[in-house]
Amino acid sequence: MGKLLETNELTRYFDIGRNQRVHAVEQVSLAIDEKEIVGLVGESGSGKSTFGKTVVGLHHKTAGTVSYRGEQLPQKYEPRDFQRLATKMQMIFQDPYSSLNPRMTVGEIVGEGLRLHSDANSASIKEQVAVWLTKVGLQADHMSRYPHEFSGGQRQRLGIARALILEPEFVVCDEPISALDVSVQAQVINLLGELKERMGLTLLFIAHDLSMVRYVSDRMAVMYLGSLVEVGKANEVYFDPKHPYTEVLIGSNPEPDPQVERGRPSTAIQGEIPSPVNVPPGCRFANRCPRVMDVCRQSTPELIPLKDVDRHVACHLYT
Ligand code: SF4
Repeated sequence: MGKLLETNELTRYFDIGRNQRVHAVEQVSLAIDEKEIVGLVGESGSGKSTFGKTVVGLHHKTAGTVSYRGEQLPQKYEPRDFQRLATKMQMIFQDPYSSLNPRMTVGEIVGEGLRLHSDANSASIKEQVAVWLTKVGLQADHMSRYPHEFSGGQRQRLGIARALILEPEFVVCDEPISALDVSVQAQVINLLGELKERMGLTLLFIAHDLSMVRYVSDRMAVMYLGSLVEVGKANEVYFDPKHPYTEVLIGSNPEPDPQVERGRPSTAIQGEIPSPVNVPPGCRFANRCPRVMDVCRQSTPELIPLKDVDRHVACHLYT
């Protein structure tokens, strides 16, 4: 399988005045193969969502590139770029409450992409909306209702139908289950898995629940303060983390299976994530790292492949 999407040193800063800026995403290089699911994990404030939004053009790029099937995408999208790329890339948002316009009917919300980005007439749009409502486990006659008439899980299904009705190849799922009850999370994950199989989707799955990411993803990428610190096969990263941050992140994340949970060491993550406005020199994790060395505060470790194991890690323990 070939590469579908690749970021090369993708960087996104936000100017906040007084010559200060938030270093939200810093030089992130990540390739995603066709039909692959890559889980992107990290604490809140690590830049995961900004990375996802920058990849699909909702934020412009401060520096670096995003290539899709080898074509370098614009640094800043114009309306015609959204028009052209909407059928290739879509995003499912975290909050099913705020991402749906409360004044639009379900039919208008789910069919909006087709209205904006296809030649379909209103009868055909209505037909496709009905099909997609059924595909995501809702009913065709829900079309005339409004978002407030649905539960959180149902609203996320609407968000999924809205994103997938254009049959994109690549979807960024930005914490698609974190606003849902635990009982509904598994249903939405299973639905995404089924649709992924049926449509041959490629997914960037952003989440902070590592056990869920391990369950759904082929590979896992760990982000800390805007940079990638570890990338590898999801199960291998989860059960044999190499970067000290991945270790503590996994140690502090409860495993839902009590048998697996009992066999895992528990490590609480210490200290606060530094401000992305004043990024410390050297390794960004140095102030919290249990294995910090002198060199860590002086030089920034690069993400490099490890010997004898299929893994990339940014840590001086391996250089
Ligand atoms: Fe810890 Fe140093 Fe590795 Fe950073 S580079 S994670 S401070 S050991």
